[in-house]
Order: sequence, then C-alpha cells, then structure tokens
Amino acid sequence: MAYDIETKCIHLEHKETTCDKSGAISFPIYQTATFAHLGLGQSTGYDYSRLQNPTREQVEKIVANLEGGVDAVAFSSGMSAIAAVMELFSPGDHLIVDEDLYGGSVRLFFSISSKNGVEITRVNLCKENPEPYIKENTKAIFIETPTNPMMNVMDIQKIAEITKKNHLLLIVDNTFLSPYFQTPLKLGADLVIHSGTKYLGGHNDTIAGFVVSGAEETAEKIRYIIKTTGAGLAPFDCWLILRGMKTLAVRMEKAQENAIQLANWLKERPEVVRVIYPGLEEHPGHEVMKKQASGFGGMLTFEVTSKALVEQILKKVKLIQFAESLGGVETLITYPLTQTHADVPPEDLAKNGITDRVLRLSVGIEHIKDLINDFEQAFG
Ligand SMILES: *Cc1c(COP(=O)(O)O)cnc(C)c1O
Repeated sequence: MAYDIETKCIHLEHKETTCDKSGAISFPIYQTATFAHLGLGQSTGYDYSRLQNPTREQVEKIVANLEGGVDAVAFSSGMSAIAAVMELFSPGDHLIVDEDLYGGSVRLFFSISSKNGVEITRVNLCKENPEPYIKENTKAIFIETPTNPMMNVMDIQKIAEITKKNHLLLIVDNTFLSPYFQTPLKLGADLVIHSGTKYLGGHNDTIAGFVVSGAEETAEKIRYIIKTTGAGLAPFDCWLILRGMKTLAVRMEKAQENAIQLANWLKERPEVVRVIYPGLEEHPGHEVMKKQASGFGGMLTFEVTSKALVEQILKKVKLIQFAESLGGVETLITYPLTQTHADVPPEDLAKNGITDRVLRLSVGIEHIKDLINDFEQAFG
C-alpha cells in the first residue's frame, strides 16, 4: 500500500536499497569514492561515486517518491541542477521562461545558456498565454510557482496543456512549496527542480539540488548528464538532506501557520503598504493555489512605506536574521533588490514590482509571539 506524504518523507515503501546489515535506523553515509568488484563482470551495483553512491541513491529515491517521479537526481546545488537541465538543449533551441524567477536562474539563462546558443524569451506567464511565443525551435517552458519574490501564481495544468499540445517540456522549479504542498508532475509537468538547500534540507546547513523526471526518457538523459558533468551531491550532504526531509511535513505545516499569522499581522500595520501571500483571499493567485496545491507555504513578501524603514527593519531585527536563502527552521528576512535579485536588469525589477521598499520573508518555525515581538520592536 502506498504511504501518505508524511510517511514518505521518512520511509520508502520498498527498502531494497538498504545495504547495511546492522539495522541502522539512520541511513549510513557511504563516504567512499569507489567500490570493489568481486570479479570480472561482477558488481555490487556501484562502481564510482560520481555515477552513484548508496547514500545519494537513498535521498534520490525519497525525493522521487515524494514528487511522484520516475527518477530524481541529487546535485551539489539547485543551480547545478538547473544547469544540468539546460544541457538537455542545443544551440539554436528556444525556451520560454517566466518573467519573475529566482535571480540565479535569470543569470544562468542570460549569461551562460545564451552564450551557449540557447535562445530565451521572458514572458509574464502569470498574465499571458505562452502560445503566441512558441516557435519552430521552442523546446521548453520554465516556471516557478509561486514566484520569487513576488509570489505570482501560475496555473500549472493550463500551461501543461499547452506544452503537451506543442511537444514542449514543462520544467517547474518547485522549491517554494516543496512536494509536501505541490507536486507539479501530477499536474502535467515533465521535470521538477528543487533547491534542496531550502525546504527539503530545512536547516540552513547545506547546499543541494534535485532534478525529478516524470518519464524514463528524460530521466536517462539527466543521468547521462550528471555522470558526464559530475555535479553529484556528496554523501554527507545527501545524509543531511535525508535527515532534514524526515521533518518536512511538520516544518511545512508550522511555517505555514506562522506565515498566515504574520501576513495578517503585517496587513494591519500602518508601515506596511501591501502584503503578498497567496494564502490571503485577496491574493490574485489564491484560487489557483487552492486548486493545484495543498497549502500556501511559508514565504511572504511585503512592501513598506519607505526605503529608510527597510534600512531600519534590517538593522533592528534580532531574532529574525537578515540573510539570503529560505525554507529553513529559522525565520530569514531578505532584501531582493541587493541580494537574490541583484543581477536582474533594473527594468525587469521595476516591471515585477521589486522596488527598494520590498522585503521577503522566509517564515520559520519559531513561536509566532516571538516573531511578532521582534517585528514590533524593529518597526517601532
Ligand atoms: C535558492 C534557489 C535556487 C538555487 O538553489 P541553490 O541551492 O542556492 O543553488 C533555485 N531556485 C529557487 C526558487 C531558489 O530559491
């Protein structure tokens, strides 16, 4: 019988990959570069850790199972996962990508992929139909939902209908919600990407990435790419992600509960011009999220009245840390303009509403009273 998601974060239905005979509950860290063969033509199934390692295999199986994919591959970072996906394309290929994306993805697309001859068109896929932008050489559509940092919501199923009709790949960066709240492959996506650094790891203690494939054909290609280019996640980091994922369900629930309360509290503050959280009924993507996800997550963005206030808040927060990244147990506040989105062209920042008054919050699992008290003293 298939397990429910909370159980899947901790256990595999089939434990055939447990190589350890000791009965260890925590999966062992196979800190080895290579594996011995018993004789010619004989193999334990492992040859060399760039190709595969038991600890990596375990974390990959858990992630594939959570996303409902045929395979997941663990990379040394979210960016190396996205860079590996870009190796699916050749010079002359064309991709359509959403306008509001993680800054690192924008940098990869326009400074590396473009140089390698991949043509990229940015479209506001939250508002616009991508069909008129599809050309002879278009190969894929790349989205995040909700987006970083403006929390725009894309209808995955609607876009998947278009990609299927036009024989394109739909690639979804699912970092913001994690498979606990959203499983894009089940909505018609072909590939799911994660920065495992964020919710999957959940403790701000390591960098990791995943590519999950919905079909064997792409899975094989991704396997070939990692084997060849070699950005596999190291055994100890695989173990950290395995450990982090065991509490994914409880962390996501608590972070969301705190996010809803903070969103409502921020809304009432005179210093706050707007709160962008898809869990709020007035959020334009609220209904689509209700349809395609089982929760709204722990990320929220808010705009304050002045840049001076931004400076004051970032200086005065004590419990809440002024730091990049998200998805950990600690609440972090980020200034997209100079941090995550520093390399995004100014005209795009303006178009997406990323002003010098916008702050992004990754809500952690602390007590809500302590978070509110910290903001109260920082605002005051
Ligand atoms: C952080 C992040 C990435 C990049 O992942 P790294 O692990 O930092 O390389 C990609 N996409 C999103 C949405 C992210 O938040």
